[in-house]
Amino acid sequence: MTYEIACNSCGTPLYSGFDLRSPADVLKASEFRCRKCGMKLATAKFAVEVKKIDGSFD
Ligand SMILES: [Zn+2]
Repeated sequence: MTYEIACNSCGTPLYSGFDLRSPADVLKASEFRCRKCGMKLATAKFAVEVKKIDGSFD
């Protein structure tokens, strides 16, 4: 199972991995900005942006 935290402006994954990390920690590492589009990111929004992504079905 993979977790992803993505920019809700351009969709660039800011974090993707097997460990569920706090959006605050992830965003802090990128200074609360999307490294691609420069959109300022608020942790409040990202509480619902953490998605569980199902792996392959095999
Ligand atoms: Zn972005």
